[in-house]
Amino acid sequence: MKKEISKLVIALDGPAGAGKSTVARLVAERFGLTYIDTGAMYRAVTWLALRHKLNMPNQQAELMGLLLDAEIKLLPAEKRSDSNETFQKVFLNEQEITEQIRTPEITQSVSIISAIPEVREHLVKLQQRMGAAGGVILDGRDIGSTVFPKADLKVFLVASSQERALRRQKQLMSLNIDCKLQDIQNDIEKRDYLDYSRKVSPLRQAKDAILVDTDNLSIDEVVNQISHLIEDLTCS
Ligand code: C5P
Repeated sequence: MKKEISKLVIALDGPAGAGKSTVARLVAERFGLTYIDTGAMYRAVTWLALRHKLNMPNQQAELMGLLLDAEIKLLPAEKRSDSNETFQKVFLNEQEITEQIRTPEITQSVSIISAIPEVREHLVKLQQRMGAAGGVILDGRDIGSTVFPKADLKVFLVASSQERALRRQKQLMSLNIDCKLQDIQNDIEKRDYLDYSRKVSPLRQAKDAILVDTDNLSIDEVVNQISHLIEDLTCS
């Protein structure tokens, strides 16, 4: 049955660096959807843990105490004048941490934090609340499998780790963060392993998700493919 675009829930999952955030933002702009970057939420919790110098995963109770009192807010990205990259604006308790959550230090620690069941339970609830009214596209690892198992459209984006490392390096360079390509690729492969093997909500392609391999596709081609899928679902 066809649906109004403002009621749709679109799940975009896949491993680190597959292009999810860029694609989700462009699809959101094209259809007037709200974009929710769930990875940014796990990064915000990681920033909170590091800021309070918590020893993870041992000090989980302390982290949950801070998290339950915290407010995580996502706002639409603003285009940066000096680059094509845009990240969703992220606030934790009114403090903007958009750029702080993109540092290699956060990236290296985020898989440990995102494997904590209580953290996931809390963020999944927030994400479900944020998307409940529809008109949303969420990018993450477990959107189609756990957060919105009844999403109207599920897409699983993949790309080789080498291609993903090249993209991530470009992204970091736009933030003036210098990183060796091999280090980025190693980090991506380590995160893939942790994301695929964790006990709670591991990264998985939902059975009814459409696989899109982006290795030989431009961003525009991926956005167009997903746009056709959305147009097939909606009444104009
Ligand atoms: O997408 P991004 O690379 O910013 O995500 C950072 C990390 O957050 C991932 O490596 C993963 O460990 C975690 N994550 C998750 N579930 C999500 C989104 C992100 O576990 N829905």
